[in-house]
Amino acid sequence: MAVAGTRAASSPRPGAALARTECPPGTAPDNEACVHLTRGADDGPLAPALPNAHREKSGRWAQYEQIPRLPDRPGDYDAYRYPIPPGLPGGHYVVSGYDLDRPDPDQRRGRTLSHVGHGGVDLPQTKGTAVKNVALDHQEGEAEVLYTGPLFGTTVVTRHSLREGGRLRDYVVLFGHLDSIAAGLAPGAAVKDGDLVGAVGDTGSPSLVHLHYEVRRVREGVDVAKVPAGAQLLADSVSVVCDPRNVLPLK
Ligand SMILES: [Zn+2]
Repeated sequence: MAVAGTRAASSPRPGAALARTECPPGTAPDNEACVHLTRGADDGPLAPALPNAHREKSGRWAQYEQIPRLPDRPGDYDAYRYPIPPGLPGGHYVVSGYDLDRPDPDQRRGRTLSHVGHGGVDLPQTKGTAVKNVALDHQEGEAEVLYTGPLFGTTVVTRHSLREGGRLRDYVVLFGHLDSIAAGLAPGAAVKDGDLVGAVGDTGSPSLVHLHYEVRRVREGVDVAKVPAGAQLLADSVSVVCDPRNVLPLK
């Protein structure tokens, strides 16, 4: 996608991160710049997978790969379209963002959390709110349901083929902590943009009602249709976790 790193002409705080209201229509803040929200070519750039590491709860120093946000994608989560309406005051969506690209001390951790770091975005909403599939940027064809069942609480996993770097690449998307799965949704089903996936809930995250939305790029040479559905889809050998801002459509 195209980028214009122009500062907002009227920014009152030089050097500070801009607020969304400081950027003109059609742009979104990315630290000190307002980035134009223009759609790019049909063939998107392929974001590189990079190494990072963190200290797990066990004390083990774990190295992993992850795909950080491309520099030309807005940092502002509110610039993107999500499967549910904004659930935070001020029309914001994301209560907890992607942090696997950050240094170890800046990653999410807590006594009640099973994992260190966060490989998706958490979108709070009222229990029962409809979760609707979002067609990703540069996606070709419809998404396909790969899995429905327990994973991140009650979870739906879909496969999306995106044209990037001159060819089609598969991504898997997780919709986690669902209260329920849409009637009739089963592996093999095609889902269009806007199709119902399920309802927001707190399965696997008791009393924290939210949608965990996670994107992973399938490894080169892996045919995801031949991978046993479920946790295997998240194995390092199968997919690499990705900042969802690389593939979510802009508003
Ligand atoms: Zn989450």
